[in-house]
Amino acid sequence: MAKDYYKILGVDKNATQEDIKKAYRKLAHQYHPDKGGDEQKFKEINEAYQVLSNSNKRSQYDRYGSAFEGAGFQGQPGWDFSSAQGFDVNDLGDIFGDMFGFGGRKKRDNRRGRDIEVDFQISLEDTLKSQEKEISLKKLVTCSRCQGKGAEPGTKVKECFSCRGTGQVQQIRRTIFGSFTQMGVCPECRGEGYRPEKPCNVCKGEGRVKEEEKIKFFVPAGVDSRQIIKMEGKGEAGRKGGQPGDLYIRISVKKHPVFERRGDDLIVSVPVSFSQAALGGEAEVPTLEGKKIELKVPSGTESGKILKVSGKGIPHFSGYGRGNMFVVLNIETPKKLSKKQKELLENLKKEGL
Ligand SMILES: [Zn+2]
Ligand SMILES: [Zn+2]
Repeated sequence: MAKDYYKILGVDKNATQEDIKKAYRKLAHQYHPDKGGDEQKFKEINEAYQVLSNSNKRSQYDRYGSAFEGAGFQGQPGWDFSSAQGFDVNDLGDIFGDMFGFGGRKKRDNRRGRDIEVDFQISLEDTLKSQEKEISLKKLVTCSRCQGKGAEPGTKVKECFSCRGTGQVQQIRRTIFGSFTQMGVCPECRGEGYRPEKPCNVCKGEGRVKEEEKIKFFVPAGVDSRQIIKMEGKGEAGRKGGQPGDLYIRISVKKHPVFERRGDDLIVSVPVSFSQAALGGEAEVPTLEGKKIELKVPSGTESGKILKVSGKGIPHFSGYGRGNMFVVLNIETPKKLSKKQKELLENLKKEGL
């Protein structure tokens, strides 16, 4: 005897998907065995919802009516699930989530690939200009043989026989208080509701394989340590064609042997001889670009004096202008003296210096 799925859910033949979902939610709550509902009725409601919530199945059911079940719909040979509208497993998760009081209404796509976080070191000089860099990552990428579907080319993806495409199976738990029925993730298809007829030879049905991938990315001028470059979809490939994760590249700028960075300013120490400091003169100062510049040292300079060179720091991240360079003058006390130097200094000493 064929069942009237519309009658079971209490909706009419023109009901929208939204109506059907609403009706199902209400009835599933009402008849859930864990809440003392009728188990047989609960099964019937689920069966009806599985068919009516799937537009493809629903149209078949509408067309064939009572012959529907008899026509061997369940496990029908050659049923190509990839062309059918997929059963919304997340929806189901939502419904059962509600029922069991699981936190979070939106369930994450369990096929989504993981995010990857990597550290990438650049030199201080690299911050002067925006440039393209490349990293090589060993990660899960979409299987090229099956295009991520997990099925051997030329074979089909079929509805899972164990859960009839719902991704959920009833599990009976026996306790001293009696048996309880609980919905759980189908172990055969891991909640996906479909399985490849013949798993792909390369990825064994996972839809992804571990491979080295070269990824080019753009490092903007003025970047600083701990800044993160996000590359959407460049994380691990999703399972069985699921959404890929994202890639996060965390920048770290290497310590420079000569320049110290403070924000967008640079600090550099320059040695100045004792006589130069006293009499004044010129000091050679390195720049991050490499070319040295000459700086005027005023007479009577004391050790630790700071000279500012405008616009010779790190480019601002905003793209306009640069920071400054601060030159710290270090007056060196001579340690090893030649005979002549010693004589001259002795004379200076006599002069009170
Ligand atoms: Zn494959
Ligand atoms: Zn299954």
